Amino acid sequence: MNDQQRIAVITGANRGIGFEICKQLAQKNIQIILTSRDQEKGMEACAQLKKQDLPVRYYQLDVREAASINDLKKFVEVEFGRCDVLINNAGIFPDAQGASDSNWPSVFDTKIETMEKAMATNVYGPMLLCQALVPLMKKHNYGRIVNLSSGMGQLADMGGHCPAYRLSKTAINALTRIVSEELSDLNILVNSMCPGWVKTDMGGSEATHELPEGADTAVWLATLPDDGPRGKFFRDRKEFEW
Ligand code: NAP
Repeated sequence: MNDQQRIAVITGANRGIGFEICKQLAQKNIQIILTSRDQEKGMEACAQLKKQDLPVRYYQLDVREAASINDLKKFVEVEFGRCDVLINNAGIFPDAQGASDSNWPSVFDTKIETMEKAMATNVYGPMLLCQALVPLMKKHNYGRIVNLSSGMGQLADMGGHCPAYRLSKTAINALTRIVSEELSDLNILVNSMCPGWVKTDMGGSEATHELPEGADTAVWLATLPDDGPRGKFFRDRKEFEW
């Protein structure tokens, strides 16, 4: 790492969009802290990028665990003394477990435990990560926070079914607005984005977007200039209605 190099933390980065974001940001010579809840999978993913001579370090992180987030914060503080970029990518779609596309769960059948699971990973984790890492961004008055949301959380086009995932993604959009407002006098830009329908374990093989396209908007938001947008929702680098 050199003094000018930016430091980026990416959650849920052992596979899918998170892994691709790590790759694309590392190719821009940003120092990546690739995190995953499963250490073995995360270290394997990290090794793949290191083989390409990319600047990547690994740290184990379960976004549902406050202690795990606190450990990450200490690691970043001791090893790098700063944090410039946070990508809240880790996410689950608990409604989808055991369901088929033609049989998406109804709000009338959804258990509160399913709702709680979605909120813990998709909303409370990102909020705790902001609490942990924003102080390290404030030290240098520089930060870019990207929250991975979804069109399924868009109020303007809200459909039925899958209430746990939908509500958690609407909530992370609200979190984006709240955090952005509280940081409005600083050079810390906080935005939400939908990656499109992407070929990953979550998106499935029928999805329309390949991984590079799915990561593109997140990478763009992570590297915005100081006069870039804040507190907005994007898809394909274009502003998207809430
Ligand atoms: P994915 O392939 O299912 O990957 C999800 C990642 O999140 C995995 O690395 C998973 O780790 C991790 N994760 C889950 N729970 C975690 C926890 N408690 N702590 C840390 N990591 C955890 O999903 P994806 O398609 O890449 O999605 C990435 C983000 O984009 C998600 O927020 C998703 O909601 C959003 N998104 C995706 C699509 C799409 O079409 N794919 C569309 C809209 C939005 P494990 O390997 O350990 O499970």
